[in-house]
Parts: sequence; C-alpha cells; structure tokens
Amino acid sequence: TPFDLVKFSEEITEELQMVAKQNQNIIYQHTGTRSIVNLDPNLLKNCVINLISNAIKYSGENTFIEFNTEIADSNCVITIKDNGIGIPDTDQKHLFEAFFRAHNTGNIPGTGLGLNIVARYTSLMDGRIEFKSDINQGTLFTITFPIS
Ligand code: ATP
Ligand code: MG
Repeated sequence: TPFDLVKFSEEITEELQMVAKQNQNIIYQHTGTRSIVNLDPNLLKNCVINLISNAIKYSGENTFIEFNTEIADSNCVITIKDNGIGIPDTDQKHLFEAFFRAHNTGNIPGTGLGLNIVARYTSLMDGRIEFKSDINQGTLFTITFPIS
C-alpha cells in the first residue's frame, strides 16, 4: 500500500509527543525528494511506535529524541536516536529475544516484547534492524527497507 512517509511520520511524532516526558522533544526530519513508499503501513507504524516509545521510556526529561526518515534510490532508512540510559555491552546480543530486558532498566516497567516484535515485523517487510548503543550515552536504532 503506497503512502506518504512524511505525513505518516509527522502524525506519529505528534501522537507520541503527547506521551513524552517533560521537555522531551521529538524532532522529526525527512531527507529525500520523494516521500511515497510502498510498505505495509500497519507493520511499519507498530515498529516506529515501539522504537520511539522505548526512546521516551529509556531517556530522561529535558532531552531530544531524533526521528529521521530518508528515501534514497532503493532504500528507505528510518532512525530513532535518544540520549538515554543506553544498553550494556553484554546485554546487546540478547536484545531481540522475547522477554529480554537489559540489566540497567531498574524500576522502569516493561515486558521485553517490543523489540522482538519490531525485529519480526522488520523482517516481514524484507528489512533489517541495527542499533548502536553506549551505556549512559544513548541509543540509535536503524531500520532499513528495500523499496521500488
Ligand atoms: P515492552 O514489551 O513494553 O516494549 P521493554 O521496553 O522492556 O517492554 P523492548 O522494547 O523489547 O522491551 O526492549 C527490550 C530491552 O531493551 C528493554 O527492556 C531495555 O533494557 C532495552 N532497550 C530498548 N530500547 C532501549 C533504548 N532506547 N534505550 C535503552 N535501552 C533500551
Ligand atoms: Mg519497549
């Protein structure tokens, strides 16, 4: 189903800004001359909402969450970056396992299912998911999809 990725992303940003913490600003930006993509909007929405919700939950007040989309020749790249608690190195290899939670989550609630779902939906859309994270610095998630 072709849809406008920019309009889609702006709507999600607006929705999640309402549940963000005090002075936690979600900054959305798109790069590219086109914005129509042919992806499953329901699967994609679930992925993006999960990743931004994690960014909100695992970072503090007075921080920025950067949400970027880019459409290049044959790829759609979506990134979500926070300046939150980060993910300990030793936990990183388990991150997509169902019910896994990193050891620095303290009393932050969660079931450990969100990323497992994102990983499965991403692969259903023939995409891939990657992340880079440093403890107490922040986390960057990237999901990349082939588009026609
Ligand atoms: P839920 O099922 O409600 O999403 P959850 O947030 O604990 O619960 P996931 O979204 O699957 O589960 O994330 C798994 C774990 O990865 C989290 O418990 C947390 O330890 C870590 N994590 C995920 N995103 C981030 C992030 N942006 N910053 C720091 N840690 C994160
Ligand atoms: Mg989560």
